[in-house]
Amino acid sequence: MFKAGDIVKILIPNVVNTGYDYRLTADADLGSFVKVGVMNHKYIGVVYGIGDSDLPENKIKDTLDVFSDKLSVNDLQWIQKMSTWTLMTPGAVLRLIVNIPDAFSPPRVEQLYKYNADSVVRMTDARQAVADAFDSNYNEPMSISDVQNIAKVSGAVVKGMIQRGVLIPCDVRVQETDFSKYQCKDMGTVRLNEEQAAAALEINQAIDNGGFSAYLLDGITGSGKTQVYFDSAWRAYSRGQSVLLMMPEIALTAQFMSRYEKRFGAPPVVWHSNLTAARRREIWRGVLRGDIRMVVGTRSALFLPWQNLGLIVVDEEHDGSYKQEDMGNYHARDMAVLRAKISGFPIVLASATPSAETLQNVADGKYKQLRLTSRFGGASLPKIETIDLREDKPEQYKISSGTEESGPQTGYLSQGLCETIRETLGAGHQVMLFINRRGFAPVVQCKKCGWVAQCPDCSVGMTYHKQLGKLLCHMCGRTTTLPEKCPVCGDAVSYRGAGLEKIQEEVNIKFPSARTALVSSDTMISRQALERLVAKMETGDIDIVIGTQILAKGHHFPNLTLVGVVDADMGLFGTDFRAAEHTFQQLFQVAGRAGRGTVPGRVLLQTYQPEHPVLKAICSGNRDAFMSADMAARRSAKMPPYGQLIAIIVEADKETKLKKVCEMLVNAAPAAAGVKIMGPIAAQIYQVRNWYRMRFLVAGDMRAMLQPVVKHWVTKVRLPANVRLKIDVNPQNFM
Ligand code: ADP
Ligand code: ZN
Ligand code: ZN
Repeated sequence: MFKAGDIVKILIPNVVNTGYDYRLTADADLGSFVKVGVMNHKYIGVVYGIGDSDLPENKIKDTLDVFSDKLSVNDLQWIQKMSTWTLMTPGAVLRLIVNIPDAFSPPRVEQLYKYNADSVVRMTDARQAVADAFDSNYNEPMSISDVQNIAKVSGAVVKGMIQRGVLIPCDVRVQETDFSKYQCKDMGTVRLNEEQAAAALEINQAIDNGGFSAYLLDGITGSGKTQVYFDSAWRAYSRGQSVLLMMPEIALTAQFMSRYEKRFGAPPVVWHSNLTAARRREIWRGVLRGDIRMVVGTRSALFLPWQNLGLIVVDEEHDGSYKQEDMGNYHARDMAVLRAKISGFPIVLASATPSAETLQNVADGKYKQLRLTSRFGGASLPKIETIDLREDKPEQYKISSGTEESGPQTGYLSQGLCETIRETLGAGHQVMLFINRRGFAPVVQCKKCGWVAQCPDCSVGMTYHKQLGKLLCHMCGRTTTLPEKCPVCGDAVSYRGAGLEKIQEEVNIKFPSARTALVSSDTMISRQALERLVAKMETGDIDIVIGTQILAKGHHFPNLTLVGVVDADMGLFGTDFRAAEHTFQQLFQVAGRAGRGTVPGRVLLQTYQPEHPVLKAICSGNRDAFMSADMAARRSAKMPPYGQLIAIIVEADKETKLKKVCEMLVNAAPAAAGVKIMGPIAAQIYQVRNWYRMRFLVAGDMRAMLQPVVKHWVTKVRLPANVRLKIDVNPQNFM
């Protein structure tokens, strides 16, 4: 389409960029990858259009390289639309795609190391993290920088492991993986039941017919949604198309991998953030060249340079992890739908607890709902009941004398729950206790003068982590030593409220012979750690597992028959309009862990408000009624999905500067029909890592063109140094 010598616009993967003009040194198409120099940097960019700068011809630089690989015109359109939608620049969107700096260079020659599993060395947490990093990369050799980046350990740790012979130098040449071992076959091992087959038939017909269509695969926990979308994945794959299976990181379990392998006769190509640089490069190139046609990955897999996509599946579509909030704000589910729409292929969103947004799209006839109403193999749904904590008051427990904390302790487990735990253990079954709060105690306070331990850099309290032996800030990760006494009045400090470590203490005293395990992001520092726990659950080496939301998803523990939710009220009173929806989803998912084997399960929700509509809805299993009530409330409040929101977050290192910029924004605020600007208000967490934060919220009805209004508004204000302005379209987080 373009000839050597033509002047074209090249989009560069850079935030502040909408394209520069270059002279092509070889023929190229729209979307062709090229290498260009900008100042002293070399970038891989793409041909984005005809050049239109008013520079004299002799000032226009030549491209450094023109590659035969390219993005499709549809992909360019997707970049453009995504930019309009999210208000990220096209260059920032391209940076999500072109994030492999050496994608077109020969593999780098670097010293690699193998992990020597036979070495005898004391296993510290850091060394375990290194072992896990190798494990999550198929035990392939790694460079030192890979080990440090993936295991998040220091150079000293790696050096020590090399000296002790745990890491052994091996070849220096990077061999490119032969991806033929990932070729999928139809193993014919799965027979779908009637409902599954009907759902798969619909999707498969859409794949055969081609063109965009969107499905909500709406099936209760344990109904076998995975096998349905595997069936459709095979349909697209066997037609020669590419398939992307997206899921939250913590759903990428060994259980899932082995199901995949049984179905397709090959291990999946897995994409997530902890891969070696070499592996990322290979997968990226493999996808670009069409050597890899099926990938199982987290949200960033959407940005691989896909060729001929024929199907995207977004599993657990309601999951918060699809929303990216750091490097640009986008919702991977929505951007996947956009990609499918522009390129014209079907997309499947799967969930047992679909988001309100998706249910509204079903109601509007935009997505077709495919329901799976029974658990596969006839397992019954668990019986869900509340325990009224106003009547069944948890008993105190005692820590025997001799320790610092000896004496009576506030209990959190009601007698009703304790009795059921006892019965369940007696029958040889397993118990899960859910409490979505990390650490031992969320509040560290002096009872005499009221002093509370606060993070010095963030406006949040410090949490006492007993295993760590420290106070930890959950915003910035800062740790401090335990205060021996109140720094203000010198009196003793007390630890208030309960996190999961505290619940474990109570369990260990009330059920001394039960074997317990803790599961949270503190103990499950890698997927491997989670795998070890899952294996222990499967072999029956754990009786009671106590965990946060990490436990809520994906896992299939056949012998787990009781789920106890320690504090079902915790999420009910958030200020965010999605609080009820999110609490419902979370508790419903947790409940779905119980009774997945032959023995029916029980779920007990401890609450002070058994009459609360969210809890009533969970107990009756009436998701549809609950969601329609929640959605009706949102409709009358004009909240999404019935109104649009864009958050503008201003952050600065000095409060005076922050105030000034907010004033400038107020003065420049647009007055557009159907658009309401709220704020600025101090963010709920006003201070993070010593920066101060204010928020504006722009609300509009469905017809208002919010994005252009906001875009125009913020360009009117020049930001001084050390002030950041973040735009979050359709925000999920209001902190
Ligand atoms: P969901 O994702 O809907 O919660 P899963 O896909 O985890 O459900 O399925 C629940 C269990 O039933 C899994 O152990 C799965 O392997 C099994 N299963 C589902 N469908 C089939 C099928 N058609 N044939 C055999 N096993 C199945
Ligand atoms: Zn005090
Ligand atoms: Zn902090």
